[in-house]
Amino acid sequence: MSSKTLSSLFLANKFLPPYSSTAINHQKSTYSTNKFIPYKPQNGNKFFCLAKSNSDTRNEDVVIVGAGIVELLYDNETLLMLYERLGIPSLVLEQSDSLREGGTSLSLFKNGWKVLDILGVGNELRTQFLQMQGMTIKTDEGKELKSFEFKDVDPSQEVRAVERRVLLQTLADALPPNSVQFSSKLAKIETNQGTGETQLELTNGAKLSAKVVVIGCDGIRSQIARWMGFPEPKYAGHCAIRGLAVYSEGQPHQPRVSYIYGRGVRAGFVPVSPTKVYWFICYNRSSPGPKISKPLEVKRQALDLVRNWPSELLTSIDLTPEETISRAALEDRWLWPTLTPPVSKGGVVLAGDAWHPMTPNLGQGGCCALEDAIVLAKKLSRAINHGQGSIEDAMKSYGDERWARVFPLTIRANLVGNLLQWENPAVCAVRNGIVIPKVVQIGPLLEHTNFASEPL
Ligand SMILES: Cc1cc2nc3c(=O)[nH]c(=O)nc-3n(C[C@H](O)[C@H](O)[C@H](O)COP(=O)(O)OP(=O)(O)OC[C@H]3O[C@@H](n4cnc5c(N)ncnc54)[C@H](O)[C@@H]3O)c2cc1C
Repeated sequence: MSSKTLSSLFLANKFLPPYSSTAINHQKSTYSTNKFIPYKPQNGNKFFCLAKSNSDTRNEDVVIVGAGIVELLYDNETLLMLYERLGIPSLVLEQSDSLREGGTSLSLFKNGWKVLDILGVGNELRTQFLQMQGMTIKTDEGKELKSFEFKDVDPSQEVRAVERRVLLQTLADALPPNSVQFSSKLAKIETNQGTGETQLELTNGAKLSAKVVVIGCDGIRSQIARWMGFPEPKYAGHCAIRGLAVYSEGQPHQPRVSYIYGRGVRAGFVPVSPTKVYWFICYNRSSPGPKISKPLEVKRQALDLVRNWPSELLTSIDLTPEETISRAALEDRWLWPTLTPPVSKGGVVLAGDAWHPMTPNLGQGGCCALEDAIVLAKKLSRAINHGQGSIEDAMKSYGDERWARVFPLTIRANLVGNLLQWENPAVCAVRNGIVIPKVVQIGPLLEHTNFASEPL
């Protein structure tokens, strides 16, 4: 990239550094209007810790807060695009001290796979996780209500449950060294009114200044979203317990997604690999209730909720190691036009759950987070790499495009959840006798998994 493009880009946007005409030396790179020297890592460390320093505020160009799914993609994206092509280094701040080790699985549909293919990690993950051929829906007594093959509905459909831990590690492995700073929890964020830069302060007192952009990917409890004026996510009226069963002798299931519908309780299980099965239970609860941190207690609660249900579900719960069991209150945030703040403020932009938490009833929260990553990275790259418009315009255009995608999906996921959580016996009888077997058309139900994206 020419130095002209870089300097005109900085001049074109409102995040113009106050010292753009002089060389800036910071920890990773050296800029000047005439020359750009990209940082070349000296060692193989991929992750490191940002210690509190007594020196001045550390300067960065692109700071990404959080290291969940989106963040690692952004990191992958921005670091590969901005860092390698442009030479603008990005930094990810993550509050945890390492990548999440436990956790269960995510069902990824064809839109999620499209993004993973664009990033070049799709095939590596495909070799590890089984492709689901179809879906079967049963009652809690085991009576089949509906069964279909994904390819009959949409030949391009691809559904696999992917272990979260493996997904994160695979994405992390694609990153340049020293990309993620662990034990770096954001405590405070503000815009410097004089320079337009975003100032970040961590809980350990370390300070950073982001000259170009801060991407807020800090999940459903996003502190950045709160700072931007977003309301807290709303509880949807049901909770979920999830786990990842381990069958050391091999799991016995066909490669199919299985749903079981009861009254006010529903469950499902998906074979993940030859030895692992992901399962979940959703149950109604008037309030989220206290946080239960003991996995054994959560397991007992899960078994109580589905006592006498089909035995394959009960066996999976029994075979689940404690560290993979978790319980979550399901929440979402509807991005009402004009009432909800825009996706960006100054040099700060949101993505994934930080912006649009949605209930998992369509299995789309993670898939949409992946889509966000691609769309924002492309738009930022166009602005930064090719000087096509300002970064501010790129963030606005990203917000407009993604809002039209995620707002209806968030509502739809919520409504589907409420319908499936029906408790009334008469209503459930109509659902099981008429609606699911005779009325529900699967094709339109999966149309939301269409996502078009050009290669990078
Ligand atoms: C029960 C359940 C089932 C689900 N099933 C599916 C599914 O089948 N398919 C699917 O596509 N989606 C599913 N989802 C949704 C999916 O999990 C999320 O949409 C996805 O994880 C969002 O990714 P993210 O990167 O935005 O946030 P997260 O994955 O939550 O990552 C946020 C990161 O930010 C870090 N962080 C937070 N605050 C700070 C801070 N102050 N400073 C520094 N770091 C911080 C956190 O430690 C974390 O690493 C499900 C969700 C639930 C609850």
